[in-house]
Amino acid sequence: MIPKPPPREGSLGFYFIPPYRIQGFSVAGEVTTIQVPELDVCFDMGQCPRAALASKYCAVSHGHMDHIGGLAYYCSQRRFQGMGDGRIICDERIAPAITRMMEGFQDLEQQKTPFELLPLKDGEQVEIKNNIYLRGFHTEHTAPSMGYSVIEKRSKLKPEYVDLPQEKLKDLKDRGIEITRTLEIPLIAYLGDTQPCAALLRPDVINAQIVICECTFFEPDHRDRAKVGMHMHVDNIAEWLGVLQCQALVLCHVSRRTDLMYARKRLFEVAGPKSEKAFFLMDYKAGKARYERQVIDSGGVIERPGFRGGGGGGGGFRRGAPMNRS
Ligand SMILES: [Zn+2]
Ligand SMILES: [Zn+2]
Repeated sequence: MIPKPPPREGSLGFYFIPPYRIQGFSVAGEVTTIQVPELDVCFDMGQCPRAALASKYCAVSHGHMDHIGGLAYYCSQRRFQGMGDGRIICDERIAPAITRMMEGFQDLEQQKTPFELLPLKDGEQVEIKNNIYLRGFHTEHTAPSMGYSVIEKRSKLKPEYVDLPQEKLKDLKDRGIEITRTLEIPLIAYLGDTQPCAALLRPDVINAQIVICECTFFEPDHRDRAKVGMHMHVDNIAEWLGVLQCQALVLCHVSRRTDLMYARKRLFEVAGPKSEKAFFLMDYKAGKARYERQVIDSGGVIERPGFRGGGGGGGGFRRGAPMNRS
């Protein structure tokens, strides 16, 4: 008898939520790596898929192995592939341990992997792209944990100056008067592993266009387990959906023993029609169907076979001649 070949490794979960691609893996206790290529950032690095290397920043939520196991590899591969040093953004409380981990690899490898460490205090932020900031805030989990919001800052004229002609504005400016204010537009929030806590109600979280959060427990009698592990239960998500303003809530960190059909059914049971804006990252079928619809709606052509999910570009899709959509 010839033994079976090994199972095929899963591809990345993938949703295109314009203008962002949300792609990665996330299975509770095993791995979480979620990349937003457009923002040059990965949230967590449980494992490092090839696509993740392209992101210059990795924002780490906490030190559990399923969120950090691929971090040293990510830095090393970026270096090896000539992509520049990896930049690790993390909670300042775990920064010394990350440094020690990287030093451990230096001893093992007898060579140094350069990386940049950007530790954040609660509420601190770092600019990751022009006018785009990543802000860290404390969440509540069994290890020191941090969630992140990505914010675009736009400078706008103060309302009292909006109707003034250019030369008047210039005059005010020359006199040193502050005529603009900074508007903050929350783009994406990533909560990492957390139990329900105050961070869920931050303005830069509830007003984010896309919220990415864990939901580890779905069974009605698993609320206690969620409490012990300091994770989210589907009941918490239902309640939260009542205040979230987002266009999409991407749920991750579902455990392997939870069937995604069951998870979706449970979410609908407790949240009703509000659950329509929730997407399960690892639901390849739903991600694929949504993406195919998007391609067709944009006048593209779906080439079969070939959808492999994730990846930047690639896949099996190409844009065809645009339809006349006047
Ligand atoms: Zn986890
Ligand atoms: Zn954890």
